Amino acid sequence: MTPDTIDFDMALVQKYDAAGPRYTSYPTAAEFSADFTGKEFEHYVEQARRTDPGRPLSLYTHLPFCNTICYYCACNKVVTKNRRRAADYLERLYREIEMMGKLVGSGRRIVQLHWGGGTPTYLDDDQLRGLMAHTRKHFHFVDDAKGEYGIEIDPRSLDEDTLSVLRNIGFNRLSMGIQDLNLAVQEAVNRIQPAELTFSVLHEARELGFRSISVDLMYGLPLQTTTSFAETVDAVIDAGPDRLSVFNYAHLPQRFKTQRQIQEEDLPTAAQKLAILQNTIKQLQAAGYVYIGMDHFARADDEMALALQNGTLHRNFQGYSTHGESELIAVGNSAISQIGGCYAQNAHDLEEYYRLIEAGSPATVRGIVLTPDDYVRRDVISSLMCRFRVSFAEIEAGYGLDFMDKFQYELTALEPMRRDGLVDIAPRQITVTPRGRLLIRNIAMVFDAYRRGASTTTRFSKVI
Ligand code: SF4
Repeated sequence: MTPDTIDFDMALVQKYDAAGPRYTSYPTAAEFSADFTGKEFEHYVEQARRTDPGRPLSLYTHLPFCNTICYYCACNKVVTKNRRRAADYLERLYREIEMMGKLVGSGRRIVQLHWGGGTPTYLDDDQLRGLMAHTRKHFHFVDDAKGEYGIEIDPRSLDEDTLSVLRNIGFNRLSMGIQDLNLAVQEAVNRIQPAELTFSVLHEARELGFRSISVDLMYGLPLQTTTSFAETVDAVIDAGPDRLSVFNYAHLPQRFKTQRQIQEEDLPTAAQKLAILQNTIKQLQAAGYVYIGMDHFARADDEMALALQNGTLHRNFQGYSTHGESELIAVGNSAISQIGGCYAQNAHDLEEYYRLIEAGSPATVRGIVLTPDDYVRRDVISSLMCRFRVSFAEIEAGYGLDFMDKFQYELTALEPMRRDGLVDIAPRQITVTPRGRLLIRNIAMVFDAYRRGASTTTRFSKVI
């Protein structure tokens, strides 16, 4: 078995199937406090500018609008046909970009850009061009060949020229949601997206020279069966995307109102869901896709698979990343920045976001400043999530501590997982076994000081 495969053990997956964070940050957003203000955020960005002036940056732009609602959706989005709302939003977003560009300073280069949503391609071609031009005016980008410039597209919302517009303004990566190609499933979730449309977009993107194309699938949706989903996976494998995410649909109708449109009796059972997942993993591994971690797979020659192999993979709010050295500035409603030892989140609510931007301040409404303990644990969790191992010596060298001493409680808490074969604990290293990889969130949770004794069921989705 190669180091990047998964050994799917149904009994263990069922035993450990609990709710837990996705660890796109540590501490997680659940720990952010409303006491953290925009003034504090400004202070930390300015401090980072002085102490780390050459450090590269990632820039995330949140574009929340969608044309129609997908019933399974748990994203922060605004569903509207009123195009004026996007224009109003862009007006404030432009101001925020200018403000953040000044605050960050001219020395720092953008190595990674991501536009997410919602549906970024809800914007028309002129708006897309205008937003990129404005962003480039206020931030400094490395050139196209070195940077990773990605956008989430919706094949259903593209005009004839949109893909070439995106390529021309500098995007070199695309990601798109597919979820399931089966028409009955698509109808049940209100997302009709014909396979011909999806694959013709994928094909055109390749012709236009997009370097990496990533697609999202979702298991656990209504009316899915192992056979029907296997057909979707086969068709997607044939189209050959570079990266693939296979997300678990978490049915939480009490929390997400639109999910109430989904008929509970149409949902696959927990056992059926696991069978679908098991089968999907088998198909992807047989087709040569490498398991990256969590819900992500990549072709063996993809940068992400190579980063996993070289131990240079990192994790941030967009998931796995090959640009771990960079800090993150995020603009738009609900967006989360990570810079200068703090995390800062913008207002979710559009009116509040507009009000804060118009007052000339960052739109921050919550955040957290990392403590020395947070830094150590963040490194341990990141090492588990991105390398499937933690070297005691590396952590000790980085923080001047004794690993066994500091993590005595955690090493004891890992014992049942070691007995179940999820981890090996060699004298000076924890290694996640192929059996434990799918349960990496459970293993990471052991090192999360904020989860100790805390319930995870209300805030977080199930790990599988
Ligand atoms: S899944 Fe995507 S396109 Fe559908 S409603 Fe959610 S954000 Fe919009």
